[in-house]
Parts: sequence; C-alpha cells; structure tokens
Amino acid sequence: MDVLVIGGAGYIGSHCVRQLVAAGHRPVVMDNLVFGHRSAVSPEIPFYEADLGDPAAVGEILRKESIELVMHFAAFAYVGESVTEPRKYYENNFVATLRLLEAMLDNGVKKFVFSSTCATYGEPERLPIVESLPQAPINPYGQTKLDVENCLKAFAHAYGLSFAAFRYFNAAGAAEDGSIGEDHSPETHLIPLVIDAATGRREPIKIFGTDYDTPDGTCLRDYVHVDDLSRAHIAAFEKLEAPGVGLFYNLGTGRPNSVREIIKAVEAVTGLKVPVVEDVRRAGDPPALYADSSKAQKELGWEIKFTEVKDIIATAWRWHEANPNGFGD
Ligand code: UDP
Repeated sequence: MDVLVIGGAGYIGSHCVRQLVAAGHRPVVMDNLVFGHRSAVSPEIPFYEADLGDPAAVGEILRKESIELVMHFAAFAYVGESVTEPRKYYENNFVATLRLLEAMLDNGVKKFVFSSTCATYGEPERLPIVESLPQAPINPYGQTKLDVENCLKAFAHAYGLSFAAFRYFNAAGAAEDGSIGEDHSPETHLIPLVIDAATGRREPIKIFGTDYDTPDGTCLRDYVHVDDLSRAHIAAFEKLEAPGVGLFYNLGTGRPNSVREIIKAVEAVTGLKVPVVEDVRRAGDPPALYADSSKAQKELGWEIKFTEVKDIIATAWRWHEANPNGFGD
C-alpha cells in the first residue's frame, strides 16, 4: 500500500516508516521538521517538508503519490506545555488535524491511522485500563487527542472514513540495529533522561514524587517498545478496507514499572550508577497507568515482542551510546 506518514521524521513515525518497508508497503514521509529529524528517514524514501494544516500541500502529495492511507504522528505532546499554552495544542493537534482530514476527504483518501494516547483516560477509575473505560482527560493535550477521536467517529459515520486510533502508553526504546532512536528537544521522557544521568551528560535524575500510593511510592507506567507499537498500526490496515470502520486500541505491555524500577533497570543494563534526587510530584501525573491491550492482541493478532522493560532499555541504551547527541541536528 502507498502510505503517507505525517510526522514520519519523528520518534514513533520514523520507526513506523521502517516497519512499513519491512512489511512490503511504500511509505512517503511528510514532516515539517519542527521536531522531526531529516536523517531519521532513509534518503530512498520520498520526503516532503510540509505542514499538515496546509490542505493545498497535503492534497498535492496525496495525488502525486497515489496515497491510499494516511498515518498521523505529528502532534505536540508536552503535557505541561499544553496546560500553559493550550492555543498551540488546539491549533496543531486539533485544528490542523481537521484540515488534514478535509484534504483527505477532498481527495478521496478515506483510510486513516491516528496516534492517540492513554492521556485521554485522565485518572482511570480501574486498572488495567480497557478501551471501554470513560475518557476524562486532565490536560489540554489529552483533550485535543480525545477531540480528534470524536471527530473521527463522526466522519466515519457521515463520510465513510475508516480509521484506527491507537492509545499509546509510554513509547520507549529504539530500533534494534541502533540506527534510529529517541531524540526530543527538550527531552522530558524518563528513560532517555535516566540514561543521560547515568552517563553524566545531564544532571541527576529527579524522581517526581515519592509519596504516591504505589508499592515504592513512585509512579507506575507501562513502557512499550516503539517497534511493537509500529507493528500494531500496520496490522490494522486490512481492517480499514470496508468504509466507515472506527477502531480504538490500547497499546501497552500491561506490565507496570515504577520510576525507581526504571532507574534500577538502567543501572543493570548500562552497568553505570544513576545519580538520583527525590523531588516533588509533577503536576498532572496520575499515580498509575497501564494497559489491558488484549483487544489489539485478539483483533489484530498483535504480538508484543518486548515484554521485559530491561530489553526495551537495552535498545535505547545501544542508540544513546552510539549517538550521545542524538541525530546531531
Ligand atoms: N519522571 C520522573 N522524572 C523525570 C521524568 C519523568 O520522575 O525527569 C516520571 C514521571 O513523573 C512519570 C514517569 O516518570 O511518572 C514517566 O514520565 P514520562 O514523562 O516519561 O512519560 P508520561 O507518563 O508523562 O507520558
């Protein structure tokens, strides 16, 4: 299939592009390079530097490349920033996505794969989280993702759009060959920050909150390998053949790890001591988030290859060790 990957130079998008090639598809990448890295995409892949909120540019790419399906990874994803600068989040994550969907419909492209998030659940009333739990985001980031989910449902009903929306838990790790990996600026994610604290590239890791009602007092999260995430997206393609299909899937391993467990795992993988500072809670952090992703496993045949967080961290470490400055751009 000819697939347009928007945000294909970003962290999850660039891993997905490689998995698409491995699965025999033809990815075309569109990225505005605000957060993406040109060198995360192999030079053989068609690449367009354009903005998803620009319907003329998107329409031209859809027609020129005979695109059948669009995958959309291009979002702002800093929870704290979404609270202080919600305009930016509504503009990019919602309004620009709406423009993109309009451009698709105007050009007869009706298959869509969307990156949603477990942040749409807010503070879940039960764990592990199943897709049918109420969604009540506690920050504008999660809200904009939920707004798009609702828009997709209406568009499926009214216009025959077929979509799969994936609610990610904590994407982590890097390509197994160490060639691409996580490089955010600023970096806020736990695993890359702990690795940098271990190597001394950054200050000691701050543990945000040690008084949560969890076994060791620190937050529990569900870390899932970026290549496992990518494979689930591709497994959904065949379900989107019929018109008006709307699918929602959680993607996580279902195994919670605390912040302290992540620090220990990084020490075990790297052989380095991680300097730690205990700090206050970060605003907006629920104590525990982990997935029941049996729906994706059953319906898509999704297999989780990386079930152990140490193995996920080992791939991240390989990338960080070889590329201490990320993509260097
Ligand atoms: N965290 C931490 N110190 C850091 C960064 C993150 O203690 O410097 C904690 C954070 O409070 C959360 C977990 O690590 O409980 C995962 O945070 P991350 O930002 O990686 O992902 P999120 O769960 O916010 O999507």
